[in-house]
Amino acid sequence: MKDELNLLKKDKARLKELQYLVEMEEWITEEYEANYERLRLEGGHALSPEVKRQGLLQVLMYFRKMREVAETVTETEVKLTLPEQTSPKGNKFTIEGVVDIIREKDSTTMYDVKTHDADYVKANKEDYIDQLNVYTHIWQNLRNETLNGTAIIATQFPRTLKKAIDADEEEKLIRELEKWNPVIPIPFSQEKVEDTINKFACVVDRIENREFHPPSVDELQERIKGTKQRFATRVCRNCDARFSCDAYREYAQKSSSFSGGFAQYINDLGNSDEVENFTNTNAFETPPPNDINDLI
Ligand code: SF4
Repeated sequence: MKDELNLLKKDKARLKELQYLVEMEEWITEEYEANYERLRLEGGHALSPEVKRQGLLQVLMYFRKMREVAETVTETEVKLTLPEQTSPKGNKFTIEGVVDIIREKDSTTMYDVKTHDADYVKANKEDYIDQLNVYTHIWQNLRNETLNGTAIIATQFPRTLKKAIDADEEEKLIRELEKWNPVIPIPFSQEKVEDTINKFACVVDRIENREFHPPSVDELQERIKGTKQRFATRVCRNCDARFSCDAYREYAQKSSSFSGGFAQYINDLGNSDEVENFTNTNAFETPPPNDINDLI
């Protein structure tokens, strides 16, 4: 009898837990939709149905995997500002960032959520260290608060997890979720903060001086750390300025990917997924004009 009672209690607890998860996922979906509508109206940009679905999936999986973090976040979207900076050429600028903070009994951790993949973040840690070190500097010195750790949360799914989601197989999904580790701790040191702020300052000067030289063709051909892709494929192919960029044009002339010559280069609208999403977005979200004047 005692065993049966214990089993009943366990079942009841499991049921309660499942009910909580269902309600939570419903709530996340509703909030996601409301947030999307607000951003669409404010910014005038729409997403294709597939990209929107992928975005929601990332949030849901993030909650499943990072439930403990999501439930213990004490401050979300904390805006950090380093105002009144001056570049070597006298330009004034401000550095801003947005992070999540978790305070536990004796420790505080700062999380920066990125839509990048974890392998890419691990291979390019230096870039993230620089950025988080500036946020740490603002947190500790300007806000006078202590910090015990910083980390990146990389929300893009690894390939195997994406496959499990597409296959819609619960067991496989649970296995892949177990393996997925989206939290990448970033060591923080305050030694290089001045250098990093100085790097930002030099970029500000270059922008203000209208110095927008592209990198060399050799750099476009280099593979990006943590990926198998070249800079030209991962970055340039998604860059709106590519048709007026000398470096990319030269790359295209040399690359075997453009064996179709100038016609292929000028007709290349980016990777096929992006083109499909762009077409779908306009097909689904833009109402056809009712009046010829709407086209003018
Ligand atoms: S195509 Fe864009 S990203 Fe690539 S080098 Fe030119 S300006 Fe930079």
